[in-house]
Amino acid sequence: MTLAINGAAPVRTRPFPAHVTIGEEEKRAVSQVMDSGVLSRFLGAYHEDFLGGPEVRANEAAWAQRFGSQHAISVNSNTSGLYCALGAVGIGPGDEVIVSPYSMSASAVCPLVWGATPIFADVETEHFCLDTASVAAAITDRTKAIVVVDLFGQPYDADGINTLARENGLRVIEDAAQAPGALYGNRPAGTLGDIGVFSLNYHKHIHCGEGGIILTDDDELAERMQLIRNHAESVVAGKGISDLTNMIGFNFRMTEIESAIARCQLEKLDALLEARLENVSYIEEKLSGLPGIVVPAVRHGTRHVYYQHVLLWDTEAADGLHRDDFVAAVKAELPHNELRENEGVKLAAGYVKPLYLLPMFAQRMAMGRNGFPLSDSPQTYAAGLCPAVERLHEEQLFAHEFMLPSMSKPDIDDAMRAFEKVCENLSSVPRTK
Ligand SMILES: *Cc1c(COP(=O)(O)O)cnc(C)c1O
Repeated sequence: MTLAINGAAPVRTRPFPAHVTIGEEEKRAVSQVMDSGVLSRFLGAYHEDFLGGPEVRANEAAWAQRFGSQHAISVNSNTSGLYCALGAVGIGPGDEVIVSPYSMSASAVCPLVWGATPIFADVETEHFCLDTASVAAAITDRTKAIVVVDLFGQPYDADGINTLARENGLRVIEDAAQAPGALYGNRPAGTLGDIGVFSLNYHKHIHCGEGGIILTDDDELAERMQLIRNHAESVVAGKGISDLTNMIGFNFRMTEIESAIARCQLEKLDALLEARLENVSYIEEKLSGLPGIVVPAVRHGTRHVYYQHVLLWDTEAADGLHRDDFVAAVKAELPHNELRENEGVKLAAGYVKPLYLLPMFAQRMAMGRNGFPLSDSPQTYAAGLCPAVERLHEEQLFAHEFMLPSMSKPDIDDAMRAFEKVCENLSSVPRTK
């Protein structure tokens, strides 16, 4: 009885340190905004303040400069940013948008907000982003755009998918929520498609509580996204906008406080990434040679920024032990992170269930009560639709966050001891599958 899952003492019970990136700089910046008395300066009208106050503008300028983009537009979440992006490129009812089944749900659901139909393509078995051949096979004469995701911090196959998009007259929206600072060659993730969107929610590399940043080099798309962010319908007349396609405004504005925090956080990004990448190399060295554990190759010529550190399970090399049983045994050895006790141990079997299995797709019920726009979708939205993602999710992929910058080497050593301990005792892991 050596394994914690069988009742023995775990490797560690003391929680891992909290992942906190907020410090004195952010406190000072917030306090200055508070002292100014102006927490937001946006006006939802054709007016000087249509584009927000000084902190909003300074933050946007900083992001545009950091990523070498013509325009940065701040919004209150990545989700809102995706809505802006699809609205700006003119997506509407009758259109199809190709999306990934392996992502946070917003990446796949965003076309629905404009009445368009999400069409799922499968993912790459080694890099987990949308697979170019599968995307090509999903294109029809109704396809208007592709929402690509830089999943887990690795850029999508930009050469393959952008070429395909160009040949078929499609727009590419890049969901770069998990990849600020990732590179494809020397081009930053977030600038690889027509529009890129980052997230600034707590779980991401850097954050301001909730928030999002959109990047684009296209002046017209930038203007349309600024309009959708801030009550387009009331602004178009004054601004002289004649094409009213999707000029239905929301309120997706970021406040002065969040903007001030986001600007401080952006300055910390490079140091935080460096710590994360160093931890990943340390972890990969420790994991190499453990039976069953495969470290997937990083896409050639890219810089991966490890939102999560993904591993693959080789059931055969582990005497037929199922991944889920292995992961359960490792989790039993380890503690949660401080401030995140309800999230449990930062190790999980699979990522999210393939998104086409969500009730909304299975029941074809999205906008209103008549199934619009899913009822006449050509896709089954049923198990078997994307075999690669299903195999990864059910049998192969597992991911952890023991590479967070808050983890010291001794913390990581504890996490790695748990992997080693279970790998050395594979035959005593209880088999439930
Ligand atoms: C976090 C995340 C989102 C959503 O970001 P919000 O800012 O919370 O709206 C979308 N896509 C991916 C890939 C994400 O990781």
